Amino acid sequence: MISDVDVIVVGAGPTGLLLAGDLAQAGVSCAVFERRSGRSGLTRAFGVNARTLEQLDARGAADELVGSGSPVAVLRFFAGAVIALSRLPSRFPYMLVTPQYQTERVLEERATRAGADIRRGSEVTGLTQYPGAVEVKVRRDGHPDQVVRAGWVVGADGMGSLVRQALGLPFPGKPVVRSVMLADVRLAQPPPDVVTVNAPGDAFAFIAPFGDGWYRVIAWHRRNQPPEDTPVHLAEVAEVARQVFGSDYGMHDPRWISRFHSDERQVPRYRDGRVLLAGDAAHVHSPAGMQGMNTGIQDAANLGWKLAATVHGWAPPGLLDTYHAERHPVGRQVLHGSGALLRLVTLPPALVAARNVLAFAAIKIPAVASWLAAAISGVAISYPAAPGAHPLAGKRAADLPLADGRRLYEALRGGRLLLAARPDALPADATSGYGDRVDAAPVARASGTVALIRPDAYIAWAAAGDAATAPQIRDSLARWCGSPAQPAARTAGQ
Ligand SMILES: Cc1cc2nc3c(=O)[nH]c(=O)nc-3n(C[C@H](O)[C@H](O)[C@H](O)COP(=O)(O)OP(=O)(O)OC[C@H]3O[C@@H](n4cnc5c(N)ncnc54)[C@H](O)[C@@H]3O)c2cc1C
Repeated sequence: MISDVDVIVVGAGPTGLLLAGDLAQAGVSCAVFERRSGRSGLTRAFGVNARTLEQLDARGAADELVGSGSPVAVLRFFAGAVIALSRLPSRFPYMLVTPQYQTERVLEERATRAGADIRRGSEVTGLTQYPGAVEVKVRRDGHPDQVVRAGWVVGADGMGSLVRQALGLPFPGKPVVRSVMLADVRLAQPPPDVVTVNAPGDAFAFIAPFGDGWYRVIAWHRRNQPPEDTPVHLAEVAEVARQVFGSDYGMHDPRWISRFHSDERQVPRYRDGRVLLAGDAAHVHSPAGMQGMNTGIQDAANLGWKLAATVHGWAPPGLLDTYHAERHPVGRQVLHGSGALLRLVTLPPALVAARNVLAFAAIKIPAVASWLAAAISGVAISYPAAPGAHPLAGKRAADLPLADGRRLYEALRGGRLLLAARPDALPADATSGYGDRVDAAPVARASGTVALIRPDAYIAWAAAGDAATAPQIRDSLARWCGSPAQPAARTAGQ
C-alpha cells in the first residue's frame, strides 16, 4: 500500500518527537515510524540543559518537564571544581536532572496533540529517493512490508541510523571510551547531592536519581575493561564507586546492568536531496558534558520550521540548507567539548593532581567560569550572520516581556516568526502579506531595536529602531520568509 504524507520522521527518540511536534503544529502531515513497540522505560540521558528547556518553553512544554525532575544549579567536576549555572541569563538557570523517558513522554504527548501520526512497532528497512519524492519500506510484525511515500524524510533514528546508511553517507570518527559500566540500583544511603560525580584518577563514576527511588550509576576503571559482552557484576560497580567516592552508598537490587562504549562520529552532510539527518543519526560522542540529547533536540528545533516552510512553499531559496550550515558546526563543537572533558576525566593518576589544580584555578577566573556555564547550558550557541549584519543577528533571542503581558517565548508558541519592537517602532502594515507566518510582537520595554525572531528563538535580523525603515523591514521579511504573495498550492513533492 502506498500512502502520501508530507514528511516521514524515522525514530521516536527525543529528536524525532520534537521535530514531529513542530511539523504537525505547522500543519505539515507527518508520520513517525518507530521500531520499538512501546514507550521505552529505559533511559540514557539525565541532564536537560537551559537552552533545551527554553526550546520546550517556546512550545509550552517546559514547565511540565521541570516538574518531573530536580534542578541542579551547581555542577561539580573533579575535586572541588564547580560550575555555577545560577547566573545564566535564562528562565532556567540550572541543569534539569530527569530521566530521558520523561523528556520523551512530554515531547510525545505534545506531538500527538498537534496531530503527528506516531506508528510504533514499525521499522524502516529501506529508503529510495526519486525526483520530488522519497519512499521508505516499513516492516511491521505480522504484516506485509509497506511502502510509504513522502516529500521529505528525516532520519532521527539514532547512532546506527538506517537512513544514513541507505544514503551511503560515511560516519567518520573513532571509539573514545570502552567498557563503561552502567547499573540502575537502589541505594541504602543516597548521596547528599542530586548529581554525584568524581574522577580521582584511574576511575570515574557518576550517580543520578530517577526520582522514584532508583538511581543510575555509571562507572569506569582503567584496569577493568573486559569485552563488552562480559557480564557486569554489581560488586564491580560498587568497588569503583568506593574508589571514586569513598562509598558505594549501599547499592543493591540492580534492575538493569550492562556495559557500553562511546564513539565520536559526525556525518559530513546533514542533508542529501530530500533526506535530512538529525540527532544521534548525525553526530555521536561520549555522555561527558551531557550534550547528546540536548544537541539532537536543538537540531530538530532548527530544522522543523525550515522544513515546514519548504513544504508550505514559502521558504526563500537556500533556507533549508541553512540547517546543515548552522547545525553541523554546533555538532562539531559538541564533539570537541565532550571529547576534551572525557580526556580530562580519564587522565592517568600522575596527571590528576595537576589537572585538579589547573581546573580549580581556571574556574576561579570569572570569564572562564561564565564561558563554561554558557557552553554547557547551550545558551552560547549562535549562528553565522551575513557580513555587516547587526551584532544581534544569529544570536539567541532573550525572553523579553511583551506589551500584552506575555513573554517572548510564550509568543513563540504559535510556531511563527515574530517581528519584535517597541509598539511605536513598527509600521502599521509591517507584516502585511505575511500574516500566515509572521506575528508582530510589541515589546514592553523601551527597546531601541527592531528584530525578526525565528521560531527556534534565534534572531534572524535586527536593526537599530530609528534606522529600521519600512522597506528594510520588508526586505528582511522577504529574505527570511519569502515572497508575501499567497503561498503556491501545496504538494507533498514540492
Ligand atoms: C549513558 C548515557 C548517558 C547520556 N546522558 C546524556 C545526558 O545527560 N544529556 C544528553 O543530552 N544526552 C545524553 N546522552 C545521549 C542521549 O541519550 C542521546 O544523544 C539521545 O538519545 C539521542 O536522541 P535521538 O532521538 O537522536 O536518538 P535515539 O534516542 O537513539 O532515538 C532513535 C530512535 O530511532 C528508533 N529507530 C532506530 N532505527 C530505526 C528504524 N530503522 N526504524 C524505525 N525506528 C528506528 C530507535 O528505536 C529509537 O527510538 C547519554 C547517552 C548515554 C549512552
